[in-house]
Amino acid sequence: MIEVYNTQTHAKEDFHAAKLGEIGMYVCGPTVYNYIHIGNARTFICFDTIRRYLQWRGFKVKFVQNITDVDDKIINRANEEGRSAAEVAREYTEAFIADMHAMGVLDPDVRPKATEEIPEMIDLVQRLVETGHAYEAQGDVYFSVRSFPEYGALSHRDIDELESGHRDLRAGDADLEGRKRDPLDFAVWKAAKPGEPAWESPWGMGRPGWHIECSAMSRKYLGLPFDIHGGGADLIFPHHENECAQAQAAWDQGFANYWLHSGMLQINSEKMSKSLGNFLLLRDVLKTAKPEVLRMLMLQTHYRSPLDFSEERLDEASAALDRIVNLVRRLRWAIENAQDIPSPLQTKPLMKLTKGTRNDFIFAMDDDFNSAGALGCVFNLVGELNSQLGDKTVSISDVPTLRASYAVIVELMSVFGIMVDEDDESVDYPQEVVALSRELTGYKGGSPRQAVDMLLGCREDARKEKNYELADQVRDGLAELGFTIEDTAQGARVSYQKK
Ligand code: AMP
Ligand code: ZN
Repeated sequence: MIEVYNTQTHAKEDFHAAKLGEIGMYVCGPTVYNYIHIGNARTFICFDTIRRYLQWRGFKVKFVQNITDVDDKIINRANEEGRSAAEVAREYTEAFIADMHAMGVLDPDVRPKATEEIPEMIDLVQRLVETGHAYEAQGDVYFSVRSFPEYGALSHRDIDELESGHRDLRAGDADLEGRKRDPLDFAVWKAAKPGEPAWESPWGMGRPGWHIECSAMSRKYLGLPFDIHGGGADLIFPHHENECAQAQAAWDQGFANYWLHSGMLQINSEKMSKSLGNFLLLRDVLKTAKPEVLRMLMLQTHYRSPLDFSEERLDEASAALDRIVNLVRRLRWAIENAQDIPSPLQTKPLMKLTKGTRNDFIFAMDDDFNSAGALGCVFNLVGELNSQLGDKTVSISDVPTLRASYAVIVELMSVFGIMVDEDDESVDYPQEVVALSRELTGYKGGSPRQAVDMLLGCREDARKEKNYELADQVRDGLAELGFTIEDTAQGARVSYQKK
């Protein structure tokens, strides 16, 4: 049984999917006005790990992540640079997707953009107005916090002690406060200002408030209530509190069943901020650090704990990863060079440990995705193999055990999105193949290697059924990404040439 810590209840709870075998997961995406920083990356990698694990555990996961492509920060940047907000948003959306691919983060099943979902948001705002939970004031529409008695339940705040969140206030727009009936109220729709992107609405030209998009999109793509809502801990209040209030007030039903929040990344134990000059963009870190080393660093800390980022920790993570990669290489060599000699190993306990490692890994990850504990299980096996193998030549009779250990280590690390078998050419497979597999086979997620296997299987089935159109689509799609298929007597074989 998987247990997850739910921010809403402050407790670990047994995880039950709302729909049998299928999980709906929504993770707030970036506001695209700059390249993402390493703190954003932490959150996205945490939820990628959780998603990969759930998929590996046999769940079908529908993963939705929005792109906030209309916002004050985007508009400000566009004005500073003398270009349109749409251009700024397009540039940084593309950069974000490229950064995620570089980190091996799986694409979401749906990546809705706020600017393409305006009618859904207007419907939601209208519903709030009709039900008395929102009111219009000079073209703005505000959510009336006091109309919703459960406000504060997610973030455990007492409404009377709350001060107004300031994200809704436009800089220098002092009279905005005057339009609100209560300082706690927040904008769900904002009247257009000259030169800003704007859409027609029942309240005149305007644009959505920040929080409304996630309520509208999660319902549209996942239905209510959905299972997991995630984001960084800085979003609990006001963003998630407001998302939750709007959705529940409008539709009068549960919103998200489990709220998961990742801890903040800090740099050398300090908050990361522009003013402290310790603001690190992911793409700059990746100039010197390998993506899998960065992942390793992140996995060593529980997703809910604050994570301290430093050069030393990167070095440690790199050394830790090397230990696994070297052992995997050593195992390969031992298997390939086994001799007809008596076994120098204690294979029985080794086999027991190998099987136990998989179970222990699951036990750790089922406990609120304790990746540090799960990594520890892998290292336990790595350590034992290292000490048993030394520089010995092994016996042919040891090979099945060593193969099993090898397979377990490679598989468990791939659940974390880390490929540790350097000689395996699939480490270079492009992430796009996962999307191709999703499109043609319907298979969602998994590693690029699994995606290629799915595609080859799909092509074989299509050929058997004389569906040559689909078979060709698979071949052509793979060819476009750099794969060549060779049909042999043993079945189709694929080779890959990086483009
Ligand atoms: P934003 O573009 O600011 O909405 O942030 C995108 C995601 O990154 C959100 O889920 C934030 O909670 C998360 N995030 C922002 N700063 C950090 C940080 N220092 N550490 C971890 N996550 C962060
Ligand atoms: Zn959100």
